[in-house]
Amino acid sequence: MSEPDRQLAHDIFKQLIEINTTDSVGNVTTAADAMRQRLLAAGFPPDDLQLLGPNDRKKNLVARYRGRPGSTLKPVLIICHVDVVEARREDWTTDPFIFTEKDGFFYGRGTQDMKDADAAVVTSFIRMKREGFVPDRDIILALTADEEGGKSNGVDWLLTNHRDLVDAAFALNPDAGGLTTVDGKPLILTVEATEKTYADFHVTATNPGGHSSLPRKDNAMYELAHALLRLEASPFPFELNEVTRAEIKTYSQMVPKQEAADMRAILRTPPSKVALARLSTNPEYNSILRTTCVATMETAGHAPNALPGRAEANVNCRILPGHSAEEVRQDLIRLFNDKALTVDYVTDAGMVMGKGSERKSAPPPPLNPQVFKPLEATVAAMWPGIKIMPEMEPGASDSIYTMAAGIPSYGFSGMGIDRGDERAHGRDERIRADSYYKGVQFEYLYLKALASQ
Ligand SMILES: [Zn+2]
Repeated sequence: MSEPDRQLAHDIFKQLIEINTTDSVGNVTTAADAMRQRLLAAGFPPDDLQLLGPNDRKKNLVARYRGRPGSTLKPVLIICHVDVVEARREDWTTDPFIFTEKDGFFYGRGTQDMKDADAAVVTSFIRMKREGFVPDRDIILALTADEEGGKSNGVDWLLTNHRDLVDAAFALNPDAGGLTTVDGKPLILTVEATEKTYADFHVTATNPGGHSSLPRKDNAMYELAHALLRLEASPFPFELNEVTRAEIKTYSQMVPKQEAADMRAILRTPPSKVALARLSTNPEYNSILRTTCVATMETAGHAPNALPGRAEANVNCRILPGHSAEEVRQDLIRLFNDKALTVDYVTDAGMVMGKGSERKSAPPPPLNPQVFKPLEATVAAMWPGIKIMPEMEPGASDSIYTMAAGIPSYGFSGMGIDRGDERAHGRDERIRADSYYKGVQFEYLYLKALASQ
């Protein structure tokens, strides 16, 4: 990368970090508009730079890089949130909203999550435009609000209100997956290709109660306890999809002998039960192999000398693609097998409902070569020998919205974060300066490879 390009990447990053985009006192619109100004100055037509959102503080920028006229290829969409998690000056060594360069690192809120990638894509757009590069399809960049919290999620809002502006063959989300490094040296690049969905359920036992000097057989706390013990004893069934198959295959080439053998054994038909049981004792592997549900909170009783009139537990589930919250609620009801218990679904907004959402996240489509071929080429050019591992994210990112809208979504970036130095959402968030510039270059090379097939 030339010195002026490095400077450009530096300045955009600094500008984004120093615009506070927290939900409490920040302003996403200011950051989105600043990027709009930069793209405007680089020669993007105003009509291709739309600033829009549900309110003045949460406007998203949709920037369209026009492809070859007459191209029959559907656009690609890049989703990048510009909001950040709250950060308090007193918790940090440096001011989280001042871009600070220290000991080879850049410090500031959003340096890992994800203003580094925001800046990389904007820089790449400007560089490509300046060179006169014409992609073989439109590339749409959406800089969005409220991924971290707040009520105005930009990706959701754009898909609901302006589908035409962001419609695409597939989406890229640099917020997920990523490059793991050790002392700045790349180790592996993970690509998020599907996600589990999140659901809370309230399991409630009620009872007429009474005086505790006269205990009876029926007791709300015991009933709830029995149900939870059943949950403990009965894990959800083992199930793989395109992505987790590829993930386990890659893992099997990197882990100790016994684990590797177990992984190969569960990929066979029928899978080995012994191997499956052994792998399931590892929480990380277990989360890939099945839907998980676990008791996380409990409240019961109202007085030390009274029989409990009510006992309630929160059961948190992470659901495999292809299944709905209502399906899991029915599974729990069958598992508890106790008519005296109620199992309610809790919405994201905290509403308790007698029925779960029927929305199934789509089972992952086959890994798209239009995404992976240029990725393999770019990784081979920058970091030869580094493995690319597709993964299923047990948490959730904004890809949940694009995937639900039927747009297959892939999460990765070239921003190397040292293993053990993940500081997203935490204090003294930082990225190696060198890793940042390499990540910028990766984005540029990847987008050009992607749009020249
Ligand atoms: Zn993020």
